[in-house]
Amino acid sequence: MNAGDSEIVVSIMQQEGYRYTERIEEADIILINTCSIRDNAEQRIWGRLSEMRRLKKQKPGLIVGVIGCMAERLKEQLIEGNTGVDIVAGPDSYRTLPQLVQSVEEGGKGINVELSKEETYAEIAPVRLDKNGVSAFIAIMRGCNNYCAYCVVPYTRGIERSRDPQTIIDEAKTLFENGYREVTLLGQNVNSYSFGDFGFPELLAAVAEISPLLRVRFATSHPKDISDQLLKTMAQYDNICKSIHLPAQSGSNDMLKKMNRKYTREWYLERVAAIKHFLPDCTITTDLISGFCGETLEDHSQTISLMQEVGYASAFMFKYSERPGTFSARHFADDIDEVEKTRRLNEVIALQNKLSIVSNQAEVGKIREVLVEGTSKRSEEQLCGRTSQNKMVVFDKKDYKAGDYVMVKITGCSSATLFGEATE
Ligand code: SAH
Ligand code: SF4
Repeated sequence: MNAGDSEIVVSIMQQEGYRYTERIEEADIILINTCSIRDNAEQRIWGRLSEMRRLKKQKPGLIVGVIGCMAERLKEQLIEGNTGVDIVAGPDSYRTLPQLVQSVEEGGKGINVELSKEETYAEIAPVRLDKNGVSAFIAIMRGCNNYCAYCVVPYTRGIERSRDPQTIIDEAKTLFENGYREVTLLGQNVNSYSFGDFGFPELLAAVAEISPLLRVRFATSHPKDISDQLLKTMAQYDNICKSIHLPAQSGSNDMLKKMNRKYTREWYLERVAAIKHFLPDCTITTDLISGFCGETLEDHSQTISLMQEVGYASAFMFKYSERPGTFSARHFADDIDEVEKTRRLNEVIALQNKLSIVSNQAEVGKIREVLVEGTSKRSEEQLCGRTSQNKMVVFDKKDYKAGDYVMVKITGCSSATLFGEATE
């Protein structure tokens, strides 16, 4: 979500005549886009800010802004004292950034952390910073209404709003015309996308209709409302990628209830069965939290068994990090000590490594269509790209280039990557 926000901010600033640079020493304004989801994300930003104070000494007049979730959450702390921060702008106030810069130039500070019920930046064409020129993200909604007990997002990004579908379709079309071959539709819970007659399945189909050569992905699907209709739509279009990110968070019903996830382990497994039924070739990935408030060893082992039962292709795995102001911070003790949280997390990671290898080994011998993203990191002579199932494949370059679709025979794998040979 954050990368997408940076692209909107660049677009807004360019319209006012500012120019984007990746060279920090060249910049007159530095805007740091922030995330508050876990404490370590915020700690990194405080580190960056001390770097900024050093830069400011070398370059008086340099303007430093903190934008996004941390700006929303910590406005006072950021602007007071000796932080070196001139601008604080929350996720719904990017349109006012040029005015905020002006207030700083006039000797003040620039602060706007107002959340909006409507802002979706619908008509702003993001300036693409993800330079591969093949795949791009499109934000289709903002905010979240789910209030999972541990999560800060509803507080920092406000209530859920869906973006006008026509602006989404136009943005995807423009990307395709400019050579892009893959778009990922982004929202905290894409299944609850709703705008006029458009639900998420309708939107997905409309984007897939742009061209069979445009791949479509999406994230994230909240398990409580991933519907059969969505799965059927995915089955109908070859260019809708067969990969679903379905964050479980925990395998224990007691934890799920306490987390306010609004589904049970049984419900989750039934949805996994539905995915396997409608989309036999679809990979499933997830997010998991270890050491949530009051998590017993039995709860933890339920997470382990859920992972085994589903056989995730990959997972993002986190230690529970208490976020001030959330329901769990206000009502539950963060009572699993750091050492034990780490131990449980490591167990989860070790199991996922095994499951990832199993999932990748099942690909060996198959021929998959790979969309080339660019040169592989390990060798100039090799390309990398993804399969519909979202697995990264590395293979010899020959005459192929970024944006090509290549049929590749999978010949080997590690836990993170497939290796193959082009068949044509
Ligand atoms: N909207 C998505 C997830 C967005 S946040 C969803 O509901 O699935 C991405 C992931 O960060 C979450 O899935 C969760 O696993 C993790 N996360 C969020 N808050 C956290 C916290 N306080 N501590 C640890 N992990 C957290
Ligand atoms: Fe956070 Fe839950 Fe919303 Fe995801 S669905 S952003 S975890 S509150």
